[in-house]
Amino acid sequence: MTAMENQTSFKLPGWLVLLLALTLTIPAGYLFSAMHEQEPIVAGPGVTQIKMLSDYEPAMLNTPADTPVYILEGEEPGATVLIFGGTHAQEVSGLLAAVVTIENATLQKGRFVVIPQSNQSGFTYTEPLEGFPHTFNIETPFGQRWFRNGMRLTNPIHEWPDADIYVHRQSQEHLVGWEGRNLNRAYPGHPEGTYTQRLASALLKVAEIERADVVLDLHEAYPEYPIINMLVAHERAFELATLAMLGLQMEGIQMDLMPSPKGLRGLSHREFGDELDHVHAILTETANPAMGRLRGRTDEQLIVEGKDENYVRAAEQGRLFVPFTEEGHPLAERTARQVATIHEVVNAYNDAQPDAISLEGLPTYADIMQNGLGAYLLEPVIN
Ligand SMILES: [Zn+2]
Repeated sequence: MTAMENQTSFKLPGWLVLLLALTLTIPAGYLFSAMHEQEPIVAGPGVTQIKMLSDYEPAMLNTPADTPVYILEGEEPGATVLIFGGTHAQEVSGLLAAVVTIENATLQKGRFVVIPQSNQSGFTYTEPLEGFPHTFNIETPFGQRWFRNGMRLTNPIHEWPDADIYVHRQSQEHLVGWEGRNLNRAYPGHPEGTYTQRLASALLKVAEIERADVVLDLHEAYPEYPIINMLVAHERAFELATLAMLGLQMEGIQMDLMPSPKGLRGLSHREFGDELDHVHAILTETANPAMGRLRGRTDEQLIVEGKDENYVRAAEQGRLFVPFTEEGHPLAERTARQVATIHEVVNAYNDAQPDAISLEGLPTYADIMQNGLGAYLLEPVIN
């Protein structure tokens, strides 16, 4: 008997192969599509309106880029602060700071416009072979609240394939191909560009239509990255950011400041300031060990508690740009740092333009450190 005859005798009927394939792919499909479900966010007492990005840019309607825009408007007119969380969906302290603001802050004067999931696509996947959890939970007085851990870039199913080299449209600056899916390299964007460029253009339109005085883009970086626990400010916002940094340091919160490099294009702290003459553009960075290459076991605990022995050892060897002890950098502390920055930017703005914004209810750094993050998350009503 030849090998060929031997194989044929074990041939499975086609219908059975098809059935087996469907048995595997249908549940896997459901699992994957569940990743497109968004975490619940509760409109707190200060939210006066919920819009969608497509209300500003109709081309976003029925696209995966459409995302909620929460408006907290005081009775008296004043300055407008536009806050972006989730530009990079993996940098979860930005998302949580936006959520804490939406669920707690009330303005008497001025406005907050808050977009918690700025690149909605980044929340719909995690990179293969990296072992990232898709979600994480935070303990609250009413039980657990779940949130998504996404990725830094747009999901490849929404923008594919990557070019070998990404060329920033307006400056012709060259970057590695996948950076084409990086919202924070795409500004000012283009209404006829790729998914990420169209999204960037729509977000810029929000700042323009709302006449934002301040754009605050909340980020995180891995502890071995030099730009960390840092504010990066456009030259128009530099004085404002300096005052905010001093305010933070007086509270004992170490944050440094760097000027937005003029030649580094596509970033929010550069393009919002260059495109719109009313905007003071500032970007923040806190330290997230779950993003770093030195991280150990990558689980929900690492995201929420931020403790990692590898990083303690790396800090002892002077390899990091932030202190890293056994205490780690818990999500509560990182979110408290972002929220404290929102407070201090408002205080600094009020120094320059007296009483431009009057704000209540937003917890302070000390509040979150003392009572935990869960104390400032509301209970979602499930229909
Ligand atoms: Zn980032």
